[in-house]
Amino acid sequence: MELTQETKDRALTVLKDKGLTILPDNKQWELRFEIKSATSDSLYTVARHKTNHNWGCSCFGWIRYRKCKHLDAVSDLLESVDIVIKKSLGQS
Ligand SMILES: [Zn+2]
Repeated sequence: MELTQETKDRALTVLKDKGLTILPDNKQWELRFEIKSATSDSLYTVARHKTNHNWGCSCFGWIRYRKCKHLDAVSDLLESVDIVIKKSLGQS
């Protein structure tokens, strides 16, 4: 189930408050935002999967192992976003 626009807007506010660059949804992913590599100029995209609701990253490590340091680095933020989504769904 995809998020309603209202829920999505609330979630995006959390990300925007952190000064993150938000990217448009694509077919499979929503709440997409850019994070910068700690060790290079590379940019990675973190996003929430529309159907399984897991967070993913565009880096090689995540694609291969479904785990990466980028997601670890923003785990608190992702948790905050998940809480906002849960609350918003509970209110509707
Ligand atoms: Zn990553």
